[in-house]
Amino acid sequence: MTKTIIEPFRIKSVEPIRWTTRQERENLLRAAHYNLFLLPAADVLIDLLTDSGTGAMSTHQWAAIMEGDESYAGSKSFDRFRQSVQDIFGYRHVIPTHQGRAAERILFSVMCKKGYVVPNNTHFDTTRANVEFVGAEAVDLMIPEGKQPSLLHPFKGNMDVAALEQLILRVGRERIPLVMLTVTNNSGGGQPVSMENIRQVSAVCRANRIPLYFDACRFAENAYFIKTREKEFEANSPKQIAQEMFRYGDGCTMSAKKDGMANIGGFLCTNDEILAQQETNLLILTEGYPTYGGLAGRDLEAIAVGLQEALEEDYLRYRIASTAYLGDHIAAEGVPIVQPPGGHAIYIDARAFLPHIPADRFPGVALAAELYLEGGIRSVEIGTLMFGAAAKMDLVRLAIPRRVYTQSHVDYLVEVIVEVWKHRRRIQGLELIYEAPFLRHFTAQLQPLSSTGAGREREQKIDEPALPR
Ligand SMILES: *Cc1c(COP(=O)(O)O)cnc(C)c1O
Repeated sequence: MTKTIIEPFRIKSVEPIRWTTRQERENLLRAAHYNLFLLPAADVLIDLLTDSGTGAMSTHQWAAIMEGDESYAGSKSFDRFRQSVQDIFGYRHVIPTHQGRAAERILFSVMCKKGYVVPNNTHFDTTRANVEFVGAEAVDLMIPEGKQPSLLHPFKGNMDVAALEQLILRVGRERIPLVMLTVTNNSGGGQPVSMENIRQVSAVCRANRIPLYFDACRFAENAYFIKTREKEFEANSPKQIAQEMFRYGDGCTMSAKKDGMANIGGFLCTNDEILAQQETNLLILTEGYPTYGGLAGRDLEAIAVGLQEALEEDYLRYRIASTAYLGDHIAAEGVPIVQPPGGHAIYIDARAFLPHIPADRFPGVALAAELYLEGGIRSVEIGTLMFGAAAKMDLVRLAIPRRVYTQSHVDYLVEVIVEVWKHRRRIQGLELIYEAPFLRHFTAQLQPLSSTGAGREREQKIDEPALPR
């Protein structure tokens, strides 16, 4: 008999979370203008806004923090950090940064310029912004299967290798300074990339003498998916798999706030001596001296330990199982989610959940607001509020912080989501009353349509369509 997968840790220090009444949440939501970014975190019961920097550190990490060497130059903590990174990633040069986007900015400043093109399975939003900031073009080449939310496929994060070859033929290899693979594919639903795909992409890159870089934020989760879904690797440890993945590349960017199991930090790696020198020069200009790069010695220690812990098999089994547990349990009740569940988050398809709310009435925001009202849960819309009319989907992301919530928290989440699913027809759309000129989702203010005469009229005109199960 397979037994329940329990949290592979016991709890040594606790942080209370606060219950609020429904009346309080109604007032808080109104005061936050129905935008959950504007809620005080203390008024959230279960916070699934992001898995970035929100994880719990282990006793080993806290112990290592006390060993932090805060010397400006040549810190012992940097040696330990570099050793841990090189043990897994294997790259010659390791450059610490304060988080992932700083590594991206330095990498693209050095490697890209106007007229260049950077292919990726899917650029994360800061990655795309940093490519475009230096005047280059960011091209997403995910396989077509990755774009269909309900379609089952073991490696929906894969890059379309034929499309990559065509792109190289079309624009010429001289205009492609590097190819990137994001593991797992965050913007594509936390879906993994297979080793087979990594090998194929690497072969195309090497044949064309184009360096391959990894956006490695969730490398450990990706390694575990390879272990469980690619037969060849079932007997390998996640660490061996990660080591092999990175051997097919020439460098990486990393946010230690994800699979670094730390609350802050990042790094940039390369095998190229000349690039490393240019990158280090930029680092000194904006991040700091090369042996700390915008981090305290204690942060370097926490990351050195965290990277290794992220690869522990017991941890990964629990991590991937608990994300799937949430997804499978709500899907079993009919809630439409991006399938199969990814590594770090569950994405609810808000357009399918609320078919009576048109995209321009923000179904994702409306659903996120309702989850908060019903159970004090904070999630995030990834859809029309974030991307405007260009949004192809309206998703609500439930990102799971690492080692923070237990199975009873997840059971509670399932209960709240299923309750909202049952009364979904009562949920109303919203309208914008304030938006900033860019990145509007962080500060936007909205109100329910029913609070204005115009909205009420419009709502009444919409016939309720038959809802899919
Ligand atoms: C979080 C993330 C980044 C950026 O890292 P920060 O530490 O937030 O700057 C880049 N790429 C991916 C895939 C990410 O998930």
